[in-house]
Amino acid sequence: MSDSAHHHPDCIFCKIIAGQIPSKRIHEDEHVFVFHDIQPWAPVHFLMVPKRHIASMAQAGPEHAHMLGHMMVLAPKLALQEGCRPYPEGGFRIVCNTGEDGGQEVHHLHVHVIGGPRPWKKG
Ligand code: AMP
Ligand code: ZN
Repeated sequence: MSDSAHHHPDCIFCKIIAGQIPSKRIHEDEHVFVFHDIQPWAPVHFLMVPKRHIASMAQAGPEHAHMLGHMMVLAPKLALQEGCRPYPEGGFRIVCNTGEDGGQEVHHLHVHVIGGPRPWKKG
């Protein structure tokens, strides 16, 4: 399947990945695209998204395990790079809103990584 088959034409995060909407990118590799949240809750707030469109964590299957594991291992490294203090004094929060009850607004799976000195706007 071509890459375009994995892009949803109306998906804002697919457009960001394709460069059709500007973003403050902090990391990109074969599997994931990482950029600053446009409305940060905290001094550090970035989003990690799979390059291939998947609506939410509810659709994750065994074929996504490698990408999801990659994201989780990458998150602490990027958190430090973006200014979170080291564990245990520092650290960060990982949030993955899923579905309407989960507070998901953008239906392209994304992991929020939030951190930095408090207070934060939310949380
Ligand atoms: P969620 O409620 O988990 O679906 O959160 C979606 C997040 O995407 C929110 O925190 C938004 O601020 C963020 N967001 C929406 N549009 C953009 C954009 N164009 N660039 C960066 N972040 C965005
Ligand atoms: Zn998408």
